[in-house]
Amino acid sequence: MAKGNSQVSRLDSKSTNRDGELAQTTLLLGRPPISIPEVVLAPEEGPATVISVVNQKGGVGKTTTTINLGAALAELGRRVLLVDFDSQASMTIGLGIRPFENEQYGSIWYLLNDPQADIREAILKSNVPGMDFIRGHEDLAAAEARFVSEIAKEHKLRKLLAPIINDYDVILIDCSPSLGTLTVNALTASHGVIIPMECEFFAIHGLSLVKETIQIIKSNTNPELKIFGILATRFDRKTAHSREVLELIANQFPDEVFDTIIARTIRFSESTSQGEPITTFASSSVGALSYRRLARELIYRGDSK
Ligand code: ADP
Ligand code: MG
Repeated sequence: MAKGNSQVSRLDSKSTNRDGELAQTTLLLGRPPISIPEVVLAPEEGPATVISVVNQKGGVGKTTTTINLGAALAELGRRVLLVDFDSQASMTIGLGIRPFENEQYGSIWYLLNDPQADIREAILKSNVPGMDFIRGHEDLAAAEARFVSEIAKEHKLRKLLAPIINDYDVILIDCSPSLGTLTVNALTASHGVIIPMECEFFAIHGLSLVKETIQIIKSNTNPELKIFGILATRFDRKTAHSREVLELIANQFPDEVFDTIIARTIRFSESTSQGEPITTFASSSVGALSYRRLARELIYRGDSK
């Protein structure tokens, strides 16, 4: 049931009035621009929308997208939970936990292995109001071997999240750069997938692999799984190559490519090293504005609450 329309979230004008400066698929490809409303309704009640951020290639912006899209959704009044599902635990570090503090107890790995564990005790608050997270851990790397003979091993994360699914509007899962057991678990637990990709030629092949995996998941463990969108990240406006690859992808997957593009900027590395999202570290930077626009686009498309 929808909450009253009076409960709307509005970004302050300074944060969105530079939309025209942001990289957008339509504008870059000379197509009619899409305008995304600045005002979004309050989320409907009911269980969280669960979204996996997936690409088997490393360094394409999965973790950056999880943290910053999460922060932007929280600014829009969504109750957000982030799950670090990568043994590199870069999301955990990017939210300010120092590596030596990141013990196994209370991490998602610990929850996966202890059926008695209470997920609520593992939930931490980030520096962004409304955005919580569950830590990753390097021992996640052992998942493949550990769960190999378990029955229903693909459903472990889905079952783990079930008790808290009504406590959040959106749950974002930061996946590891592989399409193995962990990612299969994430996809089985999700309503939809966001695929960040760099606009370089070989990325197109990787995209087909991700799409094949999604197809396998749909016919086995999660028939409702959708691709919410393909997100061009680390986009270099200066090179023709970036734009050419964008055009190839937009022609091949016209309904899936987000209009919002995340351009390349050093501000992302800087904010990660400070342990906070770019939306708080450099609130009016182009990177922050882009992830805010992505959050509104996702809601506008009807993919996220
Ligand atoms: P993944 O999770 O896919 O491995 P990350 O999100 O960790 O990728 O990003 C890899 C590196 O690229 C990080 O150092 C991050 O700060 C940087 N990065 C991510 N997005 C951008 C961007 N739009 N512009 C510049 N650097 C970026
Ligand atoms: Mg990552």
